[in-house]
Amino acid sequence: MIAFAAQHFAPPRGEAPTDGPHEDRYRRALIDAAHPSGWRNPIPPDKYNLVVIGAGPGGLTAAREAAALGAKVALIERTLLGGGRLNVGCVPSKALIRTARLYAEMRDAENVGGQVPGSIGIDFRTVMQRMHRIQARLSRADSAERLTEAGVDVYFGEARFASSDTVAVGGVLLHFKKAIIATGARPLIPTIPGISACGFLTNENVFDLTECPQRLLVMGGGPLGCEMAQAFCRFGAHVIIAQDEPMFLPREERDAAQILADCLARDGVEVHLNTAVVGVRIEGARKVVDLDSGGETFSVSVDQIASGIGRAPNVEDLNLETAGVAYDTASGIGVDDFLRTSNPRIYAAGDVCLEYKFTHAAVASARIAVRNALFPGGKGWSGLTIPWCTYSDPEIAHVGLYVREAQQKGIPVRTFTILMHDVDRAVTDGEEDGFVKIHVRQGTDRILGATVVARHAGEMINGLSLAISSGIGLRALARVVHTYPTQAEAIKMVADAYNRTRLTPTLRSLSRRWIARN
Ligand SMILES: Cc1cc2nc3c(=O)[nH]c(=O)nc-3n(C[C@H](O)[C@H](O)[C@H](O)COP(=O)(O)OP(=O)(O)OC[C@H]3O[C@@H](n4cnc5c(N)ncnc54)[C@H](O)[C@@H]3O)c2cc1C
Repeated sequence: MIAFAAQHFAPPRGEAPTDGPHEDRYRRALIDAAHPSGWRNPIPPDKYNLVVIGAGPGGLTAAREAAALGAKVALIERTLLGGGRLNVGCVPSKALIRTARLYAEMRDAENVGGQVPGSIGIDFRTVMQRMHRIQARLSRADSAERLTEAGVDVYFGEARFASSDTVAVGGVLLHFKKAIIATGARPLIPTIPGISACGFLTNENVFDLTECPQRLLVMGGGPLGCEMAQAFCRFGAHVIIAQDEPMFLPREERDAAQILADCLARDGVEVHLNTAVVGVRIEGARKVVDLDSGGETFSVSVDQIASGIGRAPNVEDLNLETAGVAYDTASGIGVDDFLRTSNPRIYAAGDVCLEYKFTHAAVASARIAVRNALFPGGKGWSGLTIPWCTYSDPEIAHVGLYVREAQQKGIPVRTFTILMHDVDRAVTDGEEDGFVKIHVRQGTDRILGATVVARHAGEMINGLSLAISSGIGLRALARVVHTYPTQAEAIKMVADAYNRTRLTPTLRSLSRRWIARN
């Protein structure tokens, strides 16, 4: 175990130590906030202005916003308040990624003139304990108590529509004027022979691990698969990642995905692209996974298999037919641009209806759904600019159009790129992998889209989202004075590169003549 682990992961000040294991203490704290034992559901009024189903980021936002606007609101959750973000998604995964980055930095300490005495050991239990502590801490903001104080009636139980304007929960009926469905999504279950019998990890149980697997096969090279593969590799597992397409992150630009593939390989992840998992069986204490790469088959033996092959919307258990809400088991609840379903009283928000399954998208869509459900007129979803980020190292973030999308729309594109190895701060930090690439409409400075690959691309992309959503072009970005040295300066360098293209030969010769004469 590394020497400073105990101090680094010490419980926050002010929290009394207990006799029980930390995991239990943090788990109890989480449950106390997110689903208190002995909770009694309220007695419903005759009618709610709004009933919200699902208390992930989408549902929580909807309920809080509606209550703040003076609506009588009910929020129904079947398991834990906080949803995927807090319990099985963003928060635990980012907590693990933080520690994994620390391990990588210790491993690479010599690159920046440091030395880690002795070999770097991993205390996986402490890593998981820190993750549980963070979940417990963040659960307070979304606790049943806080929601009640905010004027939200919190119900625990499985929600099912009983008619087009009533929902049943815990043996009572809630009548509503309007409802918002925010039931999120769950992991897609792979249909590979033998996998169910062997058992596998998804985001719903990977955060319960108490030991780091020695050998781990990750199925799927999307954001979740890549983030987890890199983190577990950095914790010391031998990680094999199988992706049945030619590249990771199929949605992203090729050069971005290539940098990630190179970085995963450099970390020690065994990368198999164009490779499908075709069978799984148990042999002794190990799981044997059969892989097919372009007709060539081979097997690997591992102790855990993790699936990150996609997400399925939670639509099945809601009795949507009774409510007259149209849905599809793959794409989720059908909504128009105002996030209204086929039942005009009922709206949807978040993963259950959106193609882009992100916490910030769930939150933004919930705000629109509340506004449209409670007030006349309509705010459209398609007007929003939604960025996203894969939290690998380096991070890969995108906003707006990809070149291929602009081309499909017949928009002529010009791209300006700055490589991170030309950015002073990236060089001083030893974080030179990546680039900032901004696409503009040819002949203008109007930003159509941008991809950032950098250590903190998720932070940098927000400036570009602001630019796109506010109609700020590269000329204006070039006028913004950036602090030096920062990696975000790369954005200004792109804008400067654009500005240089405005200096035509005629302008240059005019300028030269003026300077010579004055
Ligand atoms: C491993 C992982 C990492 C992720 N990392 C990121 C990230 O870094 N950044 C990011 O933006 N996004 C990330 N995401 C995605 C993010 O977690 C989701 O987009 C977000 O949680 C969606 O919010 P939501 O409110 O739509 O649904 P959810 O968070 O899924 O919440 C839905 C809630 O509805 C409840 N529910 C379902 N059916 C019923 C019912 N019938 N009755 C009552 N309650 C019901 C569920 O129990 C759940 O609590 C990650 C996801 C995963 C799996």
